[in-house]
Amino acid sequence: MKEKRRTAQTIIAADCAPSKAYVGIGSNMGNSRSHTAEAIQRIIKDKRVKLLAVSSLYLTSPVSRVTQNDFINCAISIVWDGLPHELLALLQGIENRMGRIRTVRHGPRTIDLDILLFGDLILSDPALKVPHQELHRRKFAVIPCLEIDPGLIHPVYGKPLRSFLAMISEKQKITKLERVGIDALASESHPASQWDLWE
Ligand code: ADP
Ligand code: MG
Repeated sequence: MKEKRRTAQTIIAADCAPSKAYVGIGSNMGNSRSHTAEAIQRIIKDKRVKLLAVSSLYLTSPVSRVTQNDFINCAISIVWDGLPHELLALLQGIENRMGRIRTVRHGPRTIDLDILLFGDLILSDPALKVPHQELHRRKFAVIPCLEIDPGLIHPVYGKPLRSFLAMISEKQKITKLERVGIDALASESHPASQWDLWE
C-alpha cells in the first residue's frame, strides 16, 4: 500500500511511525572501503535501525571543483523508527566520531552520510532537506538507490528517479565495483585514484 504523503507540518512527535529511508555514504580519504564498512556497522548498531539493503560500492569522480581523490559511494536502505532529524543526528554523530572535520566546503572527507530519501517525505528547514537537494543531480546518489529499488519515485517531482539520469552530465563518472559483505569491506584497501578505469 502506498505510504501516506507527509509534509513538514505533519512531522510531529506523535507521527513517529517507522519510515523507509535511503542513506548515501561517501568517502575519499584514507581507506574508503573500510570507512564505508565502519559507517554501515555503526548505523546498524543503533536500535532504531533495521537494515534492508546495501548497494554495490561505486567508484565515482568528485563533483566539486576542489581537486581531490575519487570517491567510494554506496547507498543503504533502512527502516528508521524515529523522526528525520533524529536520523540526521545519528548520522552526524557517526561522521564526527569517525573523525570527519569540516574544513574545505565540498572538499575531501573520511565519511559523508546523507539522508537521500525519507519515505515520500518532503521537508526543508535550515538543518535538513529531504529528499537531499542534490539527489537527482548526482549519479553517485541516484545509481546506488536505483540498484536497491529501480522503481523509486522522486517525491518532489513525482517522477521516477531513473528518469533524471539522462539529464546528468557525462562528466560525472561512475563505475560499479564489487558487491561484498560488510565484513569483507572492512579488510580491503582502496587505491588513491583509479582514473585509468575510465580511460
Ligand atoms: P554535503 O553532504 O552537501 O557535501 P555536508 O555533509 O557538509 O555537505 O552537510 C552540510 C549540512 O547539510 C549538514 O550540516 C546538514 O545539516 C545539512 N543537510 C541538509 N539536508 C541534509 C540531508 N538530507 N542529509 C544530510 N545532511 C543534510
Ligand atoms: Mg553530507
